[in-house]
Amino acid sequence: MNINEIEVNVIKIPLIKPFKTALRSVYELETIILRIETKCGITGYGETAPTFAVTGDSRESILEAIKLIKRNLMGKSVLNFNELLEIIHNSVDKNFSAKSALEIALYDIFAQNLKTPLYKMLGGSKKNFKTGITISLNEKDMMVKDSLEAAQGGYRSLKVKLGSDYREDIDRIEAISNAIPSDISIKLDANQGWTPKESVKFLTAIEDKEIAIELIEQPVKKGDLKGLKYIKNRTSIPLLADESVFSPKDAIKILEEEAVDFVNIKLDKCGGISKAMLIADICKIYGVKCMIGCMLEGAISVGAAVHVASVRSDTITMLDLDAPVLCKSSPIIGGVKFVSSNIELSDGFGLGISGFKI
Ligand SMILES: [Mg+2]
Repeated sequence: MNINEIEVNVIKIPLIKPFKTALRSVYELETIILRIETKCGITGYGETAPTFAVTGDSRESILEAIKLIKRNLMGKSVLNFNELLEIIHNSVDKNFSAKSALEIALYDIFAQNLKTPLYKMLGGSKKNFKTGITISLNEKDMMVKDSLEAAQGGYRSLKVKLGSDYREDIDRIEAISNAIPSDISIKLDANQGWTPKESVKFLTAIEDKEIAIELIEQPVKKGDLKGLKYIKNRTSIPLLADESVFSPKDAIKILEEEAVDFVNIKLDKCGGISKAMLIADICKIYGVKCMIGCMLEGAISVGAAVHVASVRSDTITMLDLDAPVLCKSSPIIGGVKFVSSNIELSDGFGLGISGFKI
């Protein structure tokens, strides 16, 4: 079970349509696939995608961090699992994307060695999930068209990207809400695009127009907990923290402040599976439910997030794991199945992945 090799591949996959938020526009997925081989012949897979605008991790910084941590992992036994997780998290500061990719691969190996699917090894039993889909920030008519297409494609939950001029955003969401069937739920994500006062003006207008909104995600800058609390005290629409919560400590801080109603967990923000489960546990203590989300990532890391969703299904009640279905193709063989809004865990050992095509 000693680590023999750690290898990375950078792969680009075209998207079906451009992905646009208040922070960035993306035309293809660039993903970093990591393979860890053990001397006894088990191969574990991990993955991360550089999302510089959100995590501050670029392709170059991720590859550098993996190289540095690799030096400390080579030759070590995966059976000393917690010790290896400590090495990952203590070898370098921050660099959560790189740490997540390495953690995922180690969990994959550990579960394969026990001849069990990862989610079962960690006590999960739920296998089937539904995800919503993201509607990119575009001109109003294009967003209405994309929302109708998503509804026709079987999605029952839309995450609509906003965060530009809040007055135009009111028009956008009113048009979408009028166009789609009323049983489809709408979540909003402003990706830090507004001030607290703009957020309240937007949300008050939405309430006055009686537009049904399930929640609003990260309307203001990540560090502005006072702003989040200001908004929370002035609206009945639930608030979800995304960029404000990277680490377990961030979760404690925001929950102590009672600044939000929900927390969005992402493996690339927190540094992997162990930290994601820890954040879910912290939220459970505070009685706060979570979403598990992803950046624009591939099917290995998003698949790992589905395993976490199964393992913490009492606290993680919302899945926003649409990235694999936004891609034109997937190079991954095996693993979690993503078919439009339906997600199904595989019963293969570990992550159930047998390889990938370059
Ligand atoms: Mg978000």
